[in-house]
Amino acid sequence: MVTPPVIAIDGPAAAGKGTLARRIAAELGLPYLDTGLLYRAVGRRVLDAGRDPADAAAAEAAARTLEPEDLSHPGLRARETDAAASQVAAIPEVRAALLEFQRGFALRAGAVLDGRDIGTVVFPDATAKIFVTASPAERARRRWEERRARGEAVTLEAVAAEMAARDARDAARDAAPMVAAPDAMLLDTTALDAEAAHAVALEMLRARLAGLPG
Ligand code: C5P
Repeated sequence: MVTPPVIAIDGPAAAGKGTLARRIAAELGLPYLDTGLLYRAVGRRVLDAGRDPADAAAAEAAARTLEPEDLSHPGLRARETDAAASQVAAIPEVRAALLEFQRGFALRAGAVLDGRDIGTVVFPDATAKIFVTASPAERARRRWEERRARGEAVTLEAVAAEMAARDARDAARDAAPMVAAPDAMLLDTTALDAEAAHAVALEMLRARLAGLPG
């Protein structure tokens, strides 16, 4: 067990883990790290340099020279960045380059981290682990709504297909594949809105964390 608390929130795209992790962090007064943003920033740098995100040397160089301003690039949530992030994330050297940053971030004052491998690789001894899922159809619908709200013209079918391809790559890769840690608590948000998911997660965490209001 690590002190101060480190809370690992893993799961596939659009399961609701980002919203949940941010709210839990605010509730518990812990720093929050969206680790997907790190892979997105690496993927974006490779694309912006005109290189192939599957090019291990280019991706590793981008990961090793990541700067804080790369994390506020306006294109980090673009569709092509989704795919590039998942491609660079399959490269072991990229994961290794980002590992110490993630650990260092959380060990300063505790943290809530969301990602794919937080409970399995980054913090196997996290204080508490939640693996957030939802049905593929519901996750695609959520991501489609987000994209439409941003004014993007994209079909639900296209979003569903891209998401399925990304999830399959994240789950099948050899390096830190997306999988629930054996000791993770499972939270299915298919029928839950953000408020309800937050309430269930706090209930789950109460068992693991002393001093939670309740
Ligand atoms: O969470 P998000 O969708 O922003 O993550 C983008 C991509 O980054 C994922 O599809 C995955 O390939 C990669 N990722 C990862 N490990 C993490 C977080 C994200 O491999 N801890």
